[in-house]
Amino acid sequence: METVFLGIGSNMGDEAANIGAAIGMVEDLDGATVLRVSRLYESAPWGVSDQPMFANAVVEIATSVPADSLLDALQAIEQELGRRPGPRFGPRLIDIDILLYGSEEWDSDRLTIPHVRMLERDFVVTPLLEIDPDVRLPDGSQVTREHVKHGAVTDILGLVPGFEDRAVAIDAHERSLGHRHRQNEDWVELCAFGDWLTNSMKAQSAPDVSFLITVFEAERIPFAWDPYPPQESFNPYGFSAKFKLMVPSVFQARASRLIDEVAKAEIDWTDPGLSGA
Ligand code: ADP
Ligand code: MG
Repeated sequence: METVFLGIGSNMGDEAANIGAAIGMVEDLDGATVLRVSRLYESAPWGVSDQPMFANAVVEIATSVPADSLLDALQAIEQELGRRPGPRFGPRLIDIDILLYGSEEWDSDRLTIPHVRMLERDFVVTPLLEIDPDVRLPDGSQVTREHVKHGAVTDILGLVPGFEDRAVAIDAHERSLGHRHRQNEDWVELCAFGDWLTNSMKAQSAPDVSFLITVFEAERIPFAWDPYPPQESFNPYGFSAKFKLMVPSVFQARASRLIDEVAKAEIDWTDPGLSGA
């Protein structure tokens, strides 16, 4: 059995239903089990921009089907779902790509793994990190957002119909919305916040606590403060180390990377556009 990540996209008809149907057909393949399914992400088309918005999701499966046979099976699913009334050419009804296949690498005429452009595409990287924040490339390196340059995610459309039980992020997120305090044992302290702040300020990049929070919210990372700070404490110069930033343990790696990115980012805090962030 190998752990395989598939990227699925649609920009025609009922995109959510198309993606749900495609995942259902993957589940029906002999020797394939759907383990985790990201939420549906909306992204603007790029390249040919005169097209509807795309919906995308990333799926983790366990399979014993070899990669080249899996590609055959996925292309058959694309054909099957494509055989519908409607214009023959035009926007993509369904596109299924093999992103990662265990730690295997492929490079043939019809199959390249890892998928050549996956790291450049926000609509791939964001849902991939949602379902596996620690996912690795065949060379052992972690997937990060640093190469993202196309296909910006513009919205989260919700769960993939039919696969709500395979979603990972939503449960922790919903839970944190109702409980700003630590309640569950799987919440971990992300960093000694005062230390992070002190180090960042030494590096001449005084961060804004509220900016970090907007980043976490945009990334749908649940977080909580322990203890919950009073509003007047949201001040980058007065924020005390006693406030611990907590995240569910499944988000720990991703949230730590984001904190590093925010600390390293050269943000112009005098930009008036940021003052309300
Ligand atoms: P795209 O996915 O690039 O928008 P297509 O779905 O039409 O376009 O795929 C074009 C070709 O890409 C397919 O015929 C397939 O053989 C090839 N291909 C190469 N590597 C992969 C991969 N990892 N997953 C899916 N298709 C791949
Ligand atoms: Mg494709």
